[in-house]
Amino acid sequence: IASIVAGIQGNPRHIEFPKDNGKPRYTSDIYGENVFSLKEMSRTLPKPVYQQFLRQIRGGQTLDKTTADAIAHAVRVWAMDRGATHFTHWFQPQTDSTAEKHDAFLTLKSTFTPHGEEVTPLDVFSGSQLLQSEPDASSFPSGGMRTTFEARGYTVWDTKSPMFIQEGPHRTSILYIPSVFISYNGEALDEKTVLLRSSEALSKAACELLALIDPVPAGHPPRVGHVFTTLGTEQEYFLIDRSLYALRPDLKTTGRTLLGRLPPRHQQLEDHYFGRIPSRVLAAMSECELELYKLGVPIKTRHNEVAPAQFEMAPIFEEAMIAVDHNLLTMDVMHKVAHRHKLKVLYHEKPFKGVNGSGKHCNWSMSTDAGENLLDPTVRPESNYRFLLFLVATLKAVHDYGAILRAGIASASNEHRLGANEAPPGIISAFLGDHLTEVLNSLEEGRPIKNFSVPEFQTIKLGGTVLDLKVSNLPTISRDLTDRNRTSPFAFTGNKFEFRAVGSKQSPSFPVTLLNAAVAASIIEITERLRKQMGDKQYPSDQDKLVVIKEVIKETKNIRFEGDNYSDAWVKEAAKRGLPNINNCVDAFKQLTDNKHVEMLTKTGIFSTIELQSRYHILMEKYAKDILIEASTLIGMINQQVLPAAYAYRKDVAQGAHLLKDVDVDAQPEVVLLKEMSPHLSALQKDVAELEKQVETISDKHEDIEAMAHGACHQLLPLMEKVREHADALEGMTGDKYWPMPRYTELLFNI
Ligand code: ADP
Ligand code: MG
Repeated sequence: IASIVAGIQGNPRHIEFPKDNGKPRYTSDIYGENVFSLKEMSRTLPKPVYQQFLRQIRGGQTLDKTTADAIAHAVRVWAMDRGATHFTHWFQPQTDSTAEKHDAFLTLKSTFTPHGEEVTPLDVFSGSQLLQSEPDASSFPSGGMRTTFEARGYTVWDTKSPMFIQEGPHRTSILYIPSVFISYNGEALDEKTVLLRSSEALSKAACELLALIDPVPAGHPPRVGHVFTTLGTEQEYFLIDRSLYALRPDLKTTGRTLLGRLPPRHQQLEDHYFGRIPSRVLAAMSECELELYKLGVPIKTRHNEVAPAQFEMAPIFEEAMIAVDHNLLTMDVMHKVAHRHKLKVLYHEKPFKGVNGSGKHCNWSMSTDAGENLLDPTVRPESNYRFLLFLVATLKAVHDYGAILRAGIASASNEHRLGANEAPPGIISAFLGDHLTEVLNSLEEGRPIKNFSVPEFQTIKLGGTVLDLKVSNLPTISRDLTDRNRTSPFAFTGNKFEFRAVGSKQSPSFPVTLLNAAVAASIIEITERLRKQMGDKQYPSDQDKLVVIKEVIKETKNIRFEGDNYSDAWVKEAAKRGLPNINNCVDAFKQLTDNKHVEMLTKTGIFSTIELQSRYHILMEKYAKDILIEASTLIGMINQQVLPAAYAYRKDVAQGAHLLKDVDVDAQPEVVLLKEMSPHLSALQKDVAELEKQVETISDKHEDIEAMAHGACHQLLPLMEKVREHADALEGMTGDKYWPMPRYTELLFNI
């Protein structure tokens, strides 16, 4: 390992920046060049076809055959001109990643002549191939749904998300067709269908509330025709050297280290944040961004994260459905590009015990079709009733459905960030910051708001006298009225909520679907209350709005928390407030079967009961299997690597002690070490044997998913922790030369 480490070259790989006549091309020029965007469609399609397509995506109707055929032809020519040979329906099964199966455009046409059969090769792509495909779906999780109904699954083009091309191997390209994945009966087998449904539900509910509070003269269409959920995903990840990664069976099969001692340096690592990005990493990031720009993914920021070898990239926010596609593409492209730089990207939420974990902060808001952000507090939030209604609706969603939001972020890997030791508790609360807290408090108490809106408060004068510096040429910057709280799972940050508890590895789709659903349900309820409050008036008065707002402020108060969410005091306080603290996946997934949640999710039309049951089944099964795989991997590492290394080291030390005695030198230090190792070796052997037994027992229960998941959670995990303790102790005592896998220091400091 030492020689591998010595051979690691941090030199960045050279990347060719696209040039035009020797001059670098501008990012804005490269942006989206591999996307069959609306602009590209209007350029390549006959006008009536393009108009028909626009009508169809806006009206949500299905595409007719002629239009589909014309689009298929145009996109094939467009793609082939850019080197594409294949197309694929690209979809999002319930595996947190994407799936694709490539088909060539090539077809053979046979004609029969008097001289025999004549075969002509042709490039063909038909409207029906564009619209629908039937992948061999049996290998994707369906939670028993396909066995109950119909074995087949279909992918159908999601016309709202643009097609794009990605380079395949050998510089050929593939046309990607973003698709949904459904069963014969239309049940969602994927992550995308339910996200689409939830966006629709939220839009409908929000438009109804807006029409009520913002009336238009009779006969006029409503001011807002559609409300979009907006999403910006801050993606955190680790990058480590690939040759060291290859020596860690745990990282390779489970994405995290199942054993490993914390490096002594790790506590001083906070200074790494916003520090210089290592040059090899910067090269990988730049190449990744370049590819993403071509794909129309608006990556905006990149920086070091808190832990060593940890980084983040974030895009400009987009409509949620597109943002999810783009997040999955981002993860995929980084994975591929990292490889080229001899790096390995880790998306696991907690790859290294005791080192800061990774999340995917989902910045979420709602926007009208005119681009107005409904969560924008504006200058005087206290009298902006529209803002207040949407704000309290979101708080109400967290209050009423916090437990289902918790279910949406549960996974075997994210469990190490939520609820396990050294992780924030699994309590879902919301943070608002001083300003909004004061706004809500003053409304609740019926008193005037403390003066927050004066310019002095909003600005920090850099040219001020604090240090008596003459920096008057610096502008006055606007102070963020919403202070930051890095510990809150759901924090208001200026004009959006940041759902911070989402896992780095998971697709943002399910958590956002559940959030949309919960907010839609709350908006519906608030609209009903407003109607009741206004009586037989045609529209609610400001007073009516205030009454409802005040009611909801009171009802949701207990989920508002401004303090340190990681503290024990909060766990106690939350218990007193009666908030659920769900600290394991089994309890989290149970929420999907809870009557209140089932009712909310089915009433809003986002899930059917069968879809929920199947999802529960899939999640529980995946969880149990993930942990079983971890346990088996750990057993292998202990038996084949840790124990043999410790034995070999012990033998050499023992022989040394023996030799020393022969020459009459004190062998006490060796003896002390041997005596220290012994109890750990015995305990490790015993515990790993017990773990093997448990893995067998729990695997045998495969007919009973709940029993398996329970066993994994309550038996395997604690036992794995015990095994790890001894292995880590032995790692600390065993010589470098003997230790068969890279240690934390080697993994984290060689990029
Ligand atoms: P912060 O400092 O709050 O993390 P940024 O402005 O850098 O702020 O935003 C982080 C992420 O939030 C970015 O991806 C950004 O595009 C996204 N974002 C900003 N406004 C919205 C919004 N209205 N809806 C959804 N996401 C948003
Ligand atoms: Mg942020």
